[in-house]
Amino acid sequence: MAAEAPPTQHPSEHPTEHEVLNPATEEVVATVPATTREQTATAVARATAAQRTWAALAPGDRAKMLRAFAATIDQHIEELAQLEVREAGHPIANARWEAGNVRDLLDYAAGGVERLTGSQIPVAGGVNITFAEPLGVVAVIVPWNFPLPLAAWGLAPALAAGNAVLLKPAEATPLTALRLAELGRAAGLPDGLFQVLPGAGPVVGEALVDHPGIAKVVFTGSARVGKQIMARCAGQVKRLTLELGGKNPNIVFADADIERAAAAAPSSFLDNTGQDCCARSRILVQRSVYDRFMELLEPAVQSFTVGDPADPATAMGPLISAAHRARVRSYVAEDTPAAIRGQAPTGKGFWYPATVVEAAPGDRVAIDEIFGPVAVVLPFEDEADAVRLANDTAYGLSGSLWTRDVGRALRVSRAVAAGNLSVNSHSSVRYWTPFGGFKQSGLGRELGPDALAAFTETKNVFIST
Ligand code: NAD
Repeated sequence: MAAEAPPTQHPSEHPTEHEVLNPATEEVVATVPATTREQTATAVARATAAQRTWAALAPGDRAKMLRAFAATIDQHIEELAQLEVREAGHPIANARWEAGNVRDLLDYAAGGVERLTGSQIPVAGGVNITFAEPLGVVAVIVPWNFPLPLAAWGLAPALAAGNAVLLKPAEATPLTALRLAELGRAAGLPDGLFQVLPGAGPVVGEALVDHPGIAKVVFTGSARVGKQIMARCAGQVKRLTLELGGKNPNIVFADADIERAAAAAPSSFLDNTGQDCCARSRILVQRSVYDRFMELLEPAVQSFTVGDPADPATAMGPLISAAHRARVRSYVAEDTPAAIRGQAPTGKGFWYPATVVEAAPGDRVAIDEIFGPVAVVLPFEDEADAVRLANDTAYGLSGSLWTRDVGRALRVSRAVAAGNLSVNSHSSVRYWTPFGGFKQSGLGRELGPDALAAFTETKNVFIST
C-alpha cells in the first residue's frame, strides 16, 4: 500500500506501525509502517529537488498535469470511496462525494494556475516587477474526520502554485492518502513531488514542522495541537495556515420557516457522526417557538438512518475509535437522560446514538467541541440575546441562522464572529469560496479564488533602466 519508501527505524516511545481499524466492525483493515524522523528528513530532501523541476515548468504544463491527476482520480472514485468507508466509517454515499471533491479541487486549482500572475509598474527610470514565487516544500497535516477532502484542500493549490507537498495523514486514516499519492504518480507527477508520510503526530508531524526545509505548514486539526504548532513555527517565522475546531451555532428565529429549520437541523450536527468542524452543535431557538421546534426535531432526529456505512441508505456511521467514543461519553453517557436520543447499533463498532441535550450556556457540554453526534439546545429571547449566545465561544468557524427577515439575516450575519455563515441553509464548504475561522478556529483561509496565493511569496524587483 505504501506509496513511498517504507520506514525502517523508529524512536522507541512511538509505535513502528499503526493498525487501521474499520470503525464499523473493529476489524484490522491494514497495518501501516510509521515514518521515522530520519525518513522525514529524506522525504524533505527529495521533495526539495522535485519542487525545483516542478516550479520550472510552464504554468500550462503544470495545469495539464494536475488535470491528468484529477482525471486519474475520476477513474478511481469508487475505489477511494470504498477505502474511506473501511478506514473512516463514512457512509458510502458521502464517501463517493468526498472522493469526487478531491477531483474537483484539483481541477479548480489547475484553472487557477494560469491566473497566478505578477504585475509590473513602469516608472521614470525603471520598472517594478512583482512575482508570485512558490514557497518551496509545504507540509500538509490533516485529521481523520475527512481524510480525502482535507488532504486536497492543501495539496491542490500548493501544487498548482509550484510547490511540493508532504502530506501527514492522521494515524487512524492513512490508506486513502497513500492511495492518492500512488494515483498522483500514475498520473505523471514527478517523483518525490507529492509524498505521504504516515505516522505519529509527535514524530512525523513535529519533524515536518521543525524542519528548516519546510516553507509552510497547513494544519487541520484540534485547537490544542494547532497552538503547539503555531508556537513551534514562530521559531522560524514559518508560514502557517490553521484550520481548527468549532462549536457552531444554529440560530432559529421565531419568524423562520420552523418546519424547514427543524427538518434541516439533524444533518447539520449528525453528518459524519458529528465529527465535523462545521457541525452546528449549539442549537439556539427563540423561546416563543422553542416547544414547537423540539416537537418537530425529535422525529427528524429519529428518522436519521444509522448503521452499516456500506449501505447506500445509511446517513450516519460509527465514531472513529473506541478512544474517541469514550471522550464523547465523558460529555453525555448513553444512559444519561437527554431531550432526544436516536438509535445506534449494538455489538462491534464504535457506535454512539444521536443525542440532543437541553443545557445552560456555561455547561461543559455547551462549551467544548465534542466532535460527536451531540447537540445542545438553548433558548434565547431576542436578536441581541441570540448574537450574544452565538458569540459566547472561543471558536468562530461557522454557523447558520434561520429567518424570513432579510434585514435580520444581514444584521446577525455581520454580528456573529465566524468565518462561514449560512442563512436558511447549513452549507459551509464550497471549493470556490474562501473557508476559515475567526478566533481560535484558525488562521488564514483555504479554498476559493485566493487559495493559490496562500502558497506563494510576493517578491518585488526594481530594474533601473
Ligand atoms: P489532532 O489535532 O489530534 O490531529 C490532527 C493531525 O495532527 C493528525 O495528523 C495528528 O497526527 C497530527 N498531530 C498530532 N500531534 C501533532 C504534533 N505535536 N505536531 C504535529 N502534528 C501533530 O486532531 P484530530 O483529533 O485528528 O481531528 C479533530 C480536530 O480537527 C477537531 O478539533 C476538528 O474541529 C478539527 N478539524 C478542523 C477543520 C477545519 O477546517 N477547521 C476540519 C476538520 C477537522
